[in-house]
Amino acid sequence: MKKTFDRAVFLDRDGTIIEEVGYLDRPERVELFPWSVDAIRVLNRAGLAVVLVSNQSGIARGFFTHDVVDRTHARMEEMLSQGGAHIDAYYYCPHHPDGVVPELARVCGCRKPARGLVDRAVEEFRVDPARSFVVGDRWLDVALATTIGGRGILVRTGYGETQEHRRPDGLQADAVVDNLMAASSWILGRL
Ligand SMILES: [Mg+2]
Ligand SMILES: [Zn+2]
Repeated sequence: MKKTFDRAVFLDRDGTIIEEVGYLDRPERVELFPWSVDAIRVLNRAGLAVVLVSNQSGIARGFFTHDVVDRTHARMEEMLSQGGAHIDAYYYCPHHPDGVVPELARVCGCRKPARGLVDRAVEEFRVDPARSFVVGDRWLDVALATTIGGRGILVRTGYGETQEHRRPDGLQADAVVDNLMAASSWILGRL
């Protein structure tokens, strides 16, 4: 029997769980923020599905392969598990309209802020998007939250610090907080 959850926390990867390093093309470059293990473990214990949702257009652009991304996620999972935390699913979009890899160079339904990756989690875990949360360091992560009818939290790590002052018209975060640990606390306070 597959595990199901009432709701999920959709976590952006780069700049939110791990240091933003531009295009992460080698798994060895993964560096978790010091609070990421604790922040994710807290969400695990609260009974939320923790789902990574990441735009990885570097694959369509030919900078790296699916294999690099999969090994990066395996390495992250290993680092998290040492602290008793885990991510229930690692979803990413490999597409980009300006890509050079023919089968990936297109508009798709899974590049955030499109909701394709969230819909995958709905199918896999039966989560209710409207009762779920999205955490990320860019406004497109908040836009995803708006699209699914959930709540969006902007973190000030990664691009977040500069993004905070460049809010697109009509888009509002439910919370702007310093980092993923603060985001987890905010979420726990609203369950
Ligand atoms: Mg990011
Ligand atoms: Zn896609």
